[in-house]
Amino acid sequence: MATHKLLLLPGDGIGPEIMAQAKNVIGWLNAQGGDQFECEEDLVGGSAYDAHGQSISEAAMERAMAADAVLFGAVGGPKWDSVAYEARPEAGLLRLRKDLQLFANLRPAICYPALADSSSLKHEVVEGLDILIIRELTGGVYFGEPKEIIDIGNGQKRGIDTQVYDTFEIERIARIAFELARTRGNKVTSTEKRNVMKSGVLWNEVVTQIGAREYSDVTLDHMLADACAMQLVRWPKQFDVILCDNLFGDMLSDVAAMLTGSLGMLPSASLGAPDATSGKRKALYEPVHGSAPDIAGTGAANPIAMIASLGMCLRYSFNMIDMADRVDAAISAALDKGLRTPDILSEGKTKVGTTEMGAAILAELNAAQ
Ligand code: NAD
Repeated sequence: MATHKLLLLPGDGIGPEIMAQAKNVIGWLNAQGGDQFECEEDLVGGSAYDAHGQSISEAAMERAMAADAVLFGAVGGPKWDSVAYEARPEAGLLRLRKDLQLFANLRPAICYPALADSSSLKHEVVEGLDILIIRELTGGVYFGEPKEIIDIGNGQKRGIDTQVYDTFEIERIARIAFELARTRGNKVTSTEKRNVMKSGVLWNEVVTQIGAREYSDVTLDHMLADACAMQLVRWPKQFDVILCDNLFGDMLSDVAAMLTGSLGMLPSASLGAPDATSGKRKALYEPVHGSAPDIAGTGAANPIAMIASLGMCLRYSFNMIDMADRVDAAISAALDKGLRTPDILSEGKTKVGTTEMGAAILAELNAAQ
């Protein structure tokens, strides 16, 4: 029986409200008598700024570095709109991603059967959908140099961003895609724009080589990123794992997100490289949505993305596949009972708040024992 150290960073707005529901699930996990979770909690975002004048304190960063995984709520809100750029709430999250070297972003797009009618696409197109988008998170055009606006005379300026990828960056993200594909449908679709971008040519070449050399058992397809966007809304069930660079991943993961209904349903994970001695990866798990200041304090936030993020943590940090499956099944079962937070409410369903939805998921976990 192992003990895992979790750092909980609830953040701002609805962050603490949804984190409270995830904490109840952690309590349930600890009561099962298997692997145990020791939780520490700290401030991040606007709440950290109010307490320390910065969006994450050095002490919280040290705790994050020492933890086996970080569970993050959400940050930001109008209260902090005018704070200095370096101290803005989002800077805390960016610092965590940078210092923990979280280069791989995982975003599942799963359509729970009970919500197939909430998607803007037809029921049969999304029912049973289960795809995983893997986005490179620390390289590419968002970070490449030069990155500037220069004066080129005659009243003209030039904005420059640079798309750069080195072989090792493509190799390490490709390995994550292949390894995760092996645990799912065994298929990777790698996306780029090799028809117009040199970085796309290299991306294609490196992914092909890694696939042939190390993962010949996994089916590998290549698709131009724009064609992938189109196929995602035409017939998304053709995909299993989609591998993307930082820029295309940003777009494609948002397209995939909307296949499944509400923002309140979407978890994510960001992973680093495995440690050479322990084999453990640094990892941060968080809902895709923000701090939803418009509903903060009303008890209406949907806790599912947060609880599903904890499920991803069990799956990807601690290999607790059975428990992760049980958490996902409990979410699905609560939805099957017709319970809906306002963001996913439809006719004939029962409107519940954050705590009721959390309690219903816990009840399903208990019932399934
Ligand atoms: P948002 O995701 O917070 O909210 C968008 C809409 O979705 C709102 O109407 C909100 O009520 C709703 N929503 C989001 N999560 C929900 C949930 N769990 N349950 C029910 N409804 C939910 O995005 P925004 O309004 O653009 O941003 C609000 C703040 O959050 C801003 O300060 C922004 O910078 C920040 N933000 C933070 C993160 C993060 O912490 N990772 C991500 C995005 C935005």
